Amino acid sequence: MDFYEDLHLQRSKRVGIMGGTFDPIHLGHLVTAEAARSEFNLEKVIFVPSGQPPHKKMKTISSKEFRYLMTFLATAANPYFEVSRTEIDRPGESFTIDTVRYMKNKMQPGGELFFITGADAILEIVTWKNVNELLDVVTFIAATRPGYDLNELKSRLTKELDNQFLKKIIALEVPAMAISSTDIRIRMKKNRSIKYLLPESVENFIHKNNLYLP
Ligand code: ATP
Ligand code: MG
Repeated sequence: MDFYEDLHLQRSKRVGIMGGTFDPIHLGHLVTAEAARSEFNLEKVIFVPSGQPPHKKMKTISSKEFRYLMTFLATAANPYFEVSRTEIDRPGESFTIDTVRYMKNKMQPGGELFFITGADAILEIVTWKNVNELLDVVTFIAATRPGYDLNELKSRLTKELDNQFLKKIIALEVPAMAISSTDIRIRMKKNRSIKYLLPESVENFIHKNNLYLP
């Protein structure tokens, strides 16, 4: 684990984690992370590109280092944003619970961890490993995402989770960004423009390294 990340975790009382495949990172991720930061007074948001996502086993995804570098480029200019290599460097499948435990241990007693997700990802949470422990260690911030109904989400979570855990999931309205990595990859395959859907630095990186070509 790198020195700066340890330092930030030790010094901050309120830290957000933004997990994702980031293949590639886009403005939907950045708007969501920034909205969560300002709404919940987070001192840092640490982006954690996943190594081997357990739920994306069947899909081919870009190499970890490409995804890490794109995440780094996209977040470099924001003084509140950091990128962690923890899942990329950990062998085997990436489980959020391992990341969250690790980070919580680095923080001072009384420090709070928030896990930022879109409405689609939180719906999958009940299928994740050690969901009870996860909800014990972090508070989830569930951001609105076009195409996913927050009310349906609430009723589904109410059915599946105990009340004590429901309290640990907070909904957050973010400016609607109908952008997904899947859509960006499809546009690239079809030779369509991806400009303004993601930071220019990331767009240049994609073209330079011939990512997502047919
Ligand atoms: P893919 O299409 O490959 O699944 P994605 O755009 O969903 O990519 P992920 O890396 O899977 O991106 O998502 C990381 C996190 O960001 C998830 O919690 C997801 O819900 C959230 N997220 C992604 N895009 C948006 C968006 N446009 N608005 C709000 N949240 C988003
Ligand atoms: Mg996704």
